[in-house]
Amino acid sequence: MTGRSLRHTAQPAALDGRAGLLVLPDVPDDAPDLVREGVARRRITASTGRCPCGAALVIPNRAARRAAARSGRDVTHVRVEHEPGCPATEDVLRPALRQWRAEQ
Ligand SMILES: [Zn+2]
Repeated sequence: MTGRSLRHTAQPAALDGRAGLLVLPDVPDDAPDLVREGVARRRITASTGRCPCGAALVIPNRAARRAAARSGRDVTHVRVEHEPGCPATEDVLRPALRQWRAEQ
């Protein structure tokens, strides 16, 4: 373990008229291209609602968000079904991150 990890930054966002924070990973300057591209695509998807691969960001519907709020959960998780092979998929980004972290 080298201590390499993704930094995250938060930016103001609103959902259902409530103020919140959108927490996104920063694109690491010293990472391989595949890691940088995957992280960049996740940021693009979160801020625009669509990945360059064509996948759309799916926000839980209003009823699901209200149910989550009633149960005390203040974090809304979104779902994105990227195309196979997209650098933002878990199948591509996770091993690329693991390899980058293992390098010294
Ligand atoms: Zn994608």
